Amino acid sequence: MTARREFHFRFVFTATVAAALLACVLKTPAADSPGAEAQRRHGLDPTKPLEARVGPAPASVLVLLKEPGRPDPKVHTLTEAERGQLKIAVQTLPPVHRRVLSAHLRELSFLDGMPNTALTSMINPKEPFRLLDITVNAAILRQNVSEWLTQKEQTCYEVTGSPLRIYVDAGTKIDALVYVLLHEATHVVDAAGQITPALIGKRTPSTFTAGVWNELSLPIAAYRDPLRAHVRFITNGDDTIPVDRAPDVYRYLSRTPFVSLYGSRNWLDDLAEYATVYHLTEVLKQPYRITVRNKDKEVFAYEPMKSALVRGRIAQMKQFYAGS
Ligand SMILES: [Zn+2]
Repeated sequence: MTARREFHFRFVFTATVAAALLACVLKTPAADSPGAEAQRRHGLDPTKPLEARVGPAPASVLVLLKEPGRPDPKVHTLTEAERGQLKIAVQTLPPVHRRVLSAHLRELSFLDGMPNTALTSMINPKEPFRLLDITVNAAILRQNVSEWLTQKEQTCYEVTGSPLRIYVDAGTKIDALVYVLLHEATHVVDAAGQITPALIGKRTPSTFTAGVWNELSLPIAAYRDPLRAHVRFITNGDDTIPVDRAPDVYRYLSRTPFVSLYGSRNWLDDLAEYATVYHLTEVLKQPYRITVRNKDKEVFAYEPMKSALVRGRIAQMKQFYAGS
């Protein structure tokens, strides 16, 4: 067996992540600016369409994905239909995400046999103008967003001996790729513009984290709970919560401003999940509803975007739609 692994996303920050803030992430750097120089040096052409930046994953990423006893992930060549899926996913991104990615996303890779869903990695952490790569597990290309979210959420729970099951209903119209790309793209926007606090040096709370997080993975006391602290998104681990406790997990979640269980784990994923679920529900008009069912009978439901506490952060999403 391979080691336990987180099911979903990983965002790679090294200890040397540069702390400098960008003056403005919305502007394309002038031809003679340090940003343009960094783009040239790292082979990023800001005029190249995002969907045309697909390439093999860099060696530095492949090393991160190596696990003993498990075959190495392999480059997935997109079919014509999958290229169409990607084009739609790019077009579906909020306008600021598209602009920031044009300047900061060097390469987008798809791999078969990845141990997790996606990875956003910074390629020049010591430089002030940050460039990033996104690597996506090609398996999600076959799923719609509800199938994928349900599969992910179910990895948190042990179902043996219980008739209860968890589902996430986010409709059937949207591909999982739209959700995953938007989540990862939000990490790029965050890294480029420092929406959440810098991870080195003094971590001064940002507008998004103030009053919500004390530390990267530690919410303020009011939003902690001992049960949710045990939640792990793991594909083959035994660190799961009995599914009978799931209603309690979501009752706790409903007393927080977090939009999803995954977003409650750290401030990076809090932002990525919030921006993604906001876009899915408020812009794309799809549902996002977590249910616990006993066979066909629904025994518990929670719709985070209907919570006043969650909606209290909506105004902060305006920054992603500037200029639209
Ligand atoms: Zn993430």
